[in-house]
Amino acid sequence: MSEIFTIGEVLVEVMAKDIDQGFDEPGTFIGPFASGAPAIFIDQATKIGSSGGILSRVGKDGFGQLNIHRLQQDGVDVRFIKMIESKTTGIAFVAYQENGDRDFIFTLKDSAVATLNEDDVREEMFDNCKYFHIMGCSAFNEGIMLAMKKAITIAKKKQIQITFDPNIRKELMEDENVKQFIQFVLKHCDVFLPGEEELLLITGASTEEKAMKLVWEMGISCVVVKKGRNGSRVYYDNTCIDIDPYPVQEIDPTGAGDCFAGTFVSLINQGKSIIEAAQWANAAGAYAVTKKGPMEGTSSLQELQVFIDQIKGGE
Ligand code: ATP
Repeated sequence: MSEIFTIGEVLVEVMAKDIDQGFDEPGTFIGPFASGAPAIFIDQATKIGSSGGILSRVGKDGFGQLNIHRLQQDGVDVRFIKMIESKTTGIAFVAYQENGDRDFIFTLKDSAVATLNEDDVREEMFDNCKYFHIMGCSAFNEGIMLAMKKAITIAKKKQIQITFDPNIRKELMEDENVKQFIQFVLKHCDVFLPGEEELLLITGASTEEKAMKLVWEMGISCVVVKKGRNGSRVYYDNTCIDIDPYPVQEIDPTGAGDCFAGTFVSLINQGKSIIEAAQWANAAGAYAVTKKGPMEGTSSLQELQVFIDQIKGGE
């Protein structure tokens, strides 16, 4: 079984071709591209050299097949992705604005993965597992939250480390059930990987310093705050270290955080230090934003080394 395991949405993304192209009139869209934040995470973690698997559901359709083939090709254990006939694979339509903002239309709530539930979670999925990764964006219905809670309880019993990337939109956090779920995950999490704004949103603190005080009180041992084009900041063992970013021209920001987290967790699983793992993770996030398409920017260590050499050569 897999050293790193995750749970959540596997979907396709369809992108508006032109900047400022809206959803309210006909236009050209490109895709489908393999997507879903947990899927991107596990694809990256596996490409970086750990064994990885995912629990999910897709429809018995071309979109589901596209995702399964892509993950399989990259070495991910896809045995726990169930294809179901009664629902279709989830779709995310994305449009980009001139100022860099993105608009989304999701079909997730009525899709195959929305039927994922507690009965899908089985103890043997966690045999030999060392890290179980949870993403807040997957907490979009009660059944999935119950499934994730059951999985966390099993993982804790087996002394598996829980890694948590909130990756959550403000609106989802307004739901009382989601808020409680996030608190449950925080209580059990060992490695916390929030974005800068998410850290404040989740803790309710007004500054990063105040937020970190609350996080330490929860007993989380390692926190890495993702800071977009400014790199990342690692909090570990009473130290706080800024990890420099790699300067790149951003083409598509989707998936950067997932590639960052996949690299970080995969490398600590392989025994690298927190700092070294975060340095590679910064490179993986920067590499991801140079590629159009959510999962098109996943990378191996060899690819990242070439990318780093190119940047250093150009300095
Ligand atoms: P998302 O949810 O869109 O995947 P996120 O908010 O979880 O993103 P970001 O902070 O945007 O995560 O990106 C993750 C990491 O990728 C950053 O910490 C940084 O190391 C790298 N990164 C992201 N954007 C850039 C950029 N424009 N230039 C250089 N590095 C970047």
